Amino acid sequence: MKTLGLLGGMSWESTAIYYRLLNEIVRERLGGLHSAKLLLHSFDFAEIAERQHHGDWDGAGVLLSGAAHKLEAGGAEGLLICTNTMHKLADQVQAAVSIPLIHIADATAMAVKGVGVKRPALLATRFTMEQDFYKGRLVEKYGLQPVVPDQAGRDMVHRVIYDELCQGIVSAPSKAAYLDEVTRLRREEKIDGVIMGCTEITMLIGQGDIDIPVFDTTRIHAEAAVEFALG
Ligand code: GLU
Repeated sequence: MKTLGLLGGMSWESTAIYYRLLNEIVRERLGGLHSAKLLLHSFDFAEIAERQHHGDWDGAGVLLSGAAHKLEAGGAEGLLICTNTMHKLADQVQAAVSIPLIHIADATAMAVKGVGVKRPALLATRFTMEQDFYKGRLVEKYGLQPVVPDQAGRDMVHRVIYDELCQGIVSAPSKAAYLDEVTRLRREEKIDGVIMGCTEITMLIGQGDIDIPVFDTTRIHAEAAVEFALG
């Protein structure tokens, strides 16, 4: 089994989910006392979020690349950035190390295509919904047609991620707001699936709430990582 290096803490709420999933999936595959071989670099998310919201992506890139380098030096053989948003810096992080980066959008796109979904909603941070690093990859590399909420919807989805989920708050009104947004996108945009394109959204909604395919990027990424680790 290969050792995985995790760039986590963005936020730690979702890194805790990654930690559990990676270990559970290894146990499912190997049984008994087996668990995942992991190295974790967990950031203080306040320091990352401040740079995101000030547009200081270069500064964030220096932090992530430095941590990736340390994980490689510590023995990591494959790398995970445990957030969709920070894949904005995926190329820069990959360039800082010689171990492979397991890209969350690639794993997600393959899961989406695998069940024949073509026009999935993308619920994520404003950065992921509005910029091209993630959506563009889904379109250009995989031929998908991701749909994002309108401005008011994006503001709501983004606010719930930073003001609630990343702070451990899971609220019924926010769940209802997310599900209303999905209903609106089905009616007005004819979406045929939902990408939970932020690693905390799995705390709030899931396949049990929605009767079209839902793609949990946290689980999909963890499954791809274990596949890499066990080969
Ligand atoms: N974990 C989230 C994501 O998957 C949001 C926090 C962040 O900006 O990293 O995008």
